[in-house]
Amino acid sequence: MAIRIVTGGIAQETNTFQWEPTSLDDFNKGSSHIDRGQEILDMEGTGTIYGGIIAAAKANDVELIPTTYGRAVPGGRVSREAYELMKNEIVEGIRQAMPIDGVLLGIHGAMALEHNDDGEGPLITAIREVVGPDMPIVAPLDLHTNLSEEMMEEATAFVGYKEYPHVDTPETGARAVEILLATINGKIKPTMAHVKLPLIAPNQSMVTTWQSPLKKAIDRAREIEKEPGVVAATVLGGFPFSDVPYTSVATIVVTNNDKALAKKYANELAQICWDLREDFTIHPTPIKDAIAEAMAGEPGSVYVLADISDSGASGTAGDGTAVLKGLLEANARSASIAQIMDRDAVDACIAAGVGATVTLSVGGKHDGLHGEPVEVTGMVRLIHEGSFINAGPMGAGTLSSRGRTIVLEINGRDGIELQLTDLRGHPSDLNFFRAFGIEPTQRRILVLKSAAHFRAAFEPIATKVIEVEAPGISSPNLHSFDYKNLRRPIYPLDPNTTWAPEEG
Ligand SMILES: [Zn+2]
Repeated sequence: MAIRIVTGGIAQETNTFQWEPTSLDDFNKGSSHIDRGQEILDMEGTGTIYGGIIAAAKANDVELIPTTYGRAVPGGRVSREAYELMKNEIVEGIRQAMPIDGVLLGIHGAMALEHNDDGEGPLITAIREVVGPDMPIVAPLDLHTNLSEEMMEEATAFVGYKEYPHVDTPETGARAVEILLATINGKIKPTMAHVKLPLIAPNQSMVTTWQSPLKKAIDRAREIEKEPGVVAATVLGGFPFSDVPYTSVATIVVTNNDKALAKKYANELAQICWDLREDFTIHPTPIKDAIAEAMAGEPGSVYVLADISDSGASGTAGDGTAVLKGLLEANARSASIAQIMDRDAVDACIAAGVGATVTLSVGGKHDGLHGEPVEVTGMVRLIHEGSFINAGPMGAGTLSSRGRTIVLEINGRDGIELQLTDLRGHPSDLNFFRAFGIEPTQRRILVLKSAAHFRAAFEPIATKVIEVEAPGISSPNLHSFDYKNLRRPIYPLDPNTTWAPEEG
């Protein structure tokens, strides 16, 4: 009889500084979705964890039984209603599928709930209660996981992404299936050890397209995975915009029944990060300087101005105006902005119609933390329903949507193209321009509200990437946040924090 593995989960990254909770409705709009049953299996071939999970299950003749997989764009805490509904569907799906051989979870790792600082721990506990203490439960983890003790206690094994941008989601999903199968077949007995460092870090210090401090530890993790007895070695950067006790850089090593070896390597990886702690600080460029450099560039060059403090992929409003304001003041030419979320502005443009000239106050309305609204006058060039398929490399084949989308042409054809959208989004794909008739390789300045995921698709076409300094709730300046719930002391907030590996 084929091995039976049940799968499902909830994947959302929570920015607790985002006041607006992620409701059930939010799981059902834009790029978010609750996949049920066959819809999960329909992710076959996509650049997602499920692309890898489904391929590995097929290759190994595993019967993969889908339950519910809810995934939402990063944002505020997940509502109790949304969490309970999906959790109950997953638990009930597992109960109905019994007898089973294992559980493969689709989770992110940095979810917080309206009613609990940890989303994943209680979910895994609820599943554990149904399947019993001996059933293997394995999950791939996002690199931005904020690891809780409960997650460690209730799961059998974790394996994290090693790339940021997360271009390795399919292979990590597949690896999780392999670990689960080896466990079911009795080839390994996964034993985990972890270290949580008193360290939080900005996203940009975790990027793997340059030799970032986190990458130095990840490179060592790859070597450790080749050592005998090691099943998986993971370095988690954590998600610093979540004010919960679990937020930190952390390491997890899984061995075949060797606790001491797991602990030794988890400590070694943690030590690498700790020794580099000062290097995790990021120094973005003032907007004015970035724009001046881009405008002085060679003809044909493409400058990406990354608005890293207003990254939709980090749960911000996506309505920050600081870079738009800078472009207007500098009278920039050939600049294209993806995007500013502003429902009222979208409504006004649709009411005016294609070709109409409108004067609007755009952005800066959601929480007042991403700059003031800015007045613009422009021509409504395009009104679009908003959805398109990603070309990749990240999330290839998946659907993105920011709801109704407008292209507003400011200061003429070669001026500033501003996309106005219903929903926030994270421009991680060239189709965030191409789907709306804009050729990104032919613009001098591309403004991307993205912390780092944009790099997978845009570094190859960019003359230069400049991370700009702007206000927002994904700012790399962690001192700008009013943290109340982190475990203290923690570096860099408490500069004199000390850490030494635990013995044994
Ligand atoms: Zn991530």
